[in-house]
Amino acid sequence: METPTTSHPVFEIDGLHASVEGEEILKGVDLTLGAGELHALMGPNGSGKSTLANVLMGNPGYDVTAGRVLYKGDDITDVSAEERGRRGIFLGFQYPEEIPGVKMVTFMQTAMSRRKGIDDLSLFEVRLAMMEAMKLLEMDESFMDRHLNEGFSGGEKKRNEILQMALLDPEVAILDETDSGLDIDAMRIVSAGIAKIREQQPEMATLVITHRRRILDHLDPSHVHVLVDGRIAETGGRELAEQVDADGFDAFRAVAGAGAGTRAGTGAGRGET
Ligand code: ADP
Ligand code: MG
Repeated sequence: METPTTSHPVFEIDGLHASVEGEEILKGVDLTLGAGELHALMGPNGSGKSTLANVLMGNPGYDVTAGRVLYKGDDITDVSAEERGRRGIFLGFQYPEEIPGVKMVTFMQTAMSRRKGIDDLSLFEVRLAMMEAMKLLEMDESFMDRHLNEGFSGGEKKRNEILQMALLDPEVAILDETDSGLDIDAMRIVSAGIAKIREQQPEMATLVITHRRRILDHLDPSHVHVLVDGRIAETGGRELAEQVDADGFDAFRAVAGAGAGTRAGTGAGRGET
């Protein structure tokens, strides 16, 4: 059983199995995000965290073979990525793409227009909104006129993700490894940014995917889930993140293996092909 949520569910992941190129990566994931909650998903490299993020965002390269995803009660398992974004599901990518020749402000004009469902959002309005959000994230105004992710440092790309999150007003935000490649100061700014966005949008549900505990010290998740080998091996509160930090993920592999029943000896043998 899952730790009970205190508010109404925004996102329900129900018995989700998913494959990439014929190989089953997610082997039955259950997870419910309530409005206003911040959950952390932790797990070792290769456990399926990014696969889950991609499936939740509707990336067509990932096949859902069983289970479903509900968003505000609607089954969105077969809904396109673009439509999910329009409806308010946000995914901060682990490796944001560079789009040469596209200025940040132009990119955001398109993204914000789509999300708000209006075509005539002016560049002036977008600039104003960006200026406000960039102040929040301690970003320099010149950022607006740079080309999307071109020559951005790791920290700048991550801040850019958080900036997009602030501007797109999501109802669910999924942040995959938002802390990777951040130095301590940048991590503080990013986590403070997330906290401020949550203050402004208290109903937003957030799933922070990470393999390290440190960012969670700043974000204070109400729920922590440990994903091992495509399954949630354990769910708990903040103390679970501390346990992961102290003991590593190996302790949870045993749990995942014991619960799997039919599996044997796959611990070190991932990616046989
Ligand atoms: P994590 O984010 O937890 O490190 P991933 O979800 O990225 O894990 O990867 C889980 C497994 O799925 C790995 O064995 C990886 O090789 C495989 N995988 C993920 N995405 C792809 C892909 N696009 N093509 C082929 N294999 C993939
Ligand atoms: Mg990953």
